[in-house]
Amino acid sequence: MEARPERRDRRKSVPRTRPVHNAEPEARSAYERTRKLEHSIVCERCGVVCHAGRWGWSDAPMDPVVRGLCPACERIRDRMPAGIVELSMVPSELREEIVHMIENLEQRERVEHPLERLMDIESSRDGELRITTTGMHLSRGIASALRRRFHQGVNIQYPDGDGPVRIAWRT
Ligand SMILES: [Zn+2]
Repeated sequence: MEARPERRDRRKSVPRTRPVHNAEPEARSAYERTRKLEHSIVCERCGVVCHAGRWGWSDAPMDPVVRGLCPACERIRDRMPAGIVELSMVPSELREEIVHMIENLEQRERVEHPLERLMDIESSRDGELRITTTGMHLSRGIASALRRRFHQGVNIQYPDGDGPVRIAWRT
């Protein structure tokens, strides 16, 4: 059994908005709960393999294998991001750089953490960028990268329950 109730109680006593570099609560939603199964799972959409409760980009093991969807592909199918990053008033000359930075981050992240992926990058004419991710870790990584690059304006808000982490940045 996980000690979820305790963790939840503790989280209620802290402010909901805090700087990126603070320790964050360990967040696990229904999509990430490790399923201790007798068999392995191969995601029929992206090919990632769950073996002994861990997802990785390995070959399908020899033990009984079930086809299904990995938590990342489930989130993409359900349009249920684990992280939402909203950037306001992004100057047009920075837009390409930021999108590039985020895409590179994802490429690096998903090698080790296959469930951390970009879902969408939407941009609007008035300079807003909205990025959704299948994992909180990637959204937090984007927040850290924005902070390193621009030094300010990053706000991170953790959910009370199973909702997504929300990160806002404005110039
Ligand atoms: Zn998948």
